[in-house]
Amino acid sequence: MINHKTSILSALTIGLFLTACQPAAETEKPETVVETTEAKPKKISWSYSGDNGPEHWASLSENFATCASGTVQSPFDITADKTDTLPALNLNYVPTDMTVINNGHTIQVDQAGGGQLVVGDATYNLLQFHFHTASEYSIDGKFYPLEVHLVHASDAGELAVVGVMFAEGEANAELANIWANMPATKGENTAQGQSVDVKNLLPESGQYYRFMGSLTTPPCSEGVNWHVMSQPITASAEQIAAFKAIFAMNARPLQAENDRMVVLGK
Ligand SMILES: [Zn+2]
Repeated sequence: MINHKTSILSALTIGLFLTACQPAAETEKPETVVETTEAKPKKISWSYSGDNGPEHWASLSENFATCASGTVQSPFDITADKTDTLPALNLNYVPTDMTVINNGHTIQVDQAGGGQLVVGDATYNLLQFHFHTASEYSIDGKFYPLEVHLVHASDAGELAVVGVMFAEGEANAELANIWANMPATKGENTAQGQSVDVKNLLPESGQYYRFMGSLTTPPCSEGVNWHVMSQPITASAEQIAAFKAIFAMNARPLQAENDRMVVLGK
């Protein structure tokens, strides 16, 4: 009985991680692997347009049902329901060896061992970060040309994502570092002797929006603790164009906010 429960838990945990927001071990597989009762996991192909696009994600697999039935889905248009004191985001990141992956859905940088997010009494380990164009969330109706998601998980498997918007402006040096190693086609590039410092992808202001949401890619699992920084950073027009040359659009459309609470920190 205990073994049975354990295997269900592992399947759930595995399911939760399988998306663009997935740990390093899964990144060689560009398509989401769905746990089934069959011996071999089945690969489900999904995309941002056409027959496998966002409106069809839930019908591609029963494991993606939450994409349609969920009530706390991401992204949505962020507007603060109230302003309140929120715990500071302690982003304790350290420079980490660079592995840049094109997984067919996004450019992802693996950051296992890249540090921790401590917020209140919760601690989450940084797993990876990846990019979307245009931004997935909008803030007060405004979209940005690029958004980065820093994906973390607690030891118990709870996910926390920090989102940062890029406005068009000055070039970002860390982005230049990453872009120089970004594979144009599916694949992985380990840049020997080079490191990434995630701190260079954070705004000066620590102010953030706090709310509950989901993964923005199948299986659209809910229970994700979202923190979206209110202050954008910048990327140059050339840097934005370089990403769009590989992924013209990799953003899920806005979902219903429903009655969730969005708090903007003071
Ligand atoms: Zn994302």
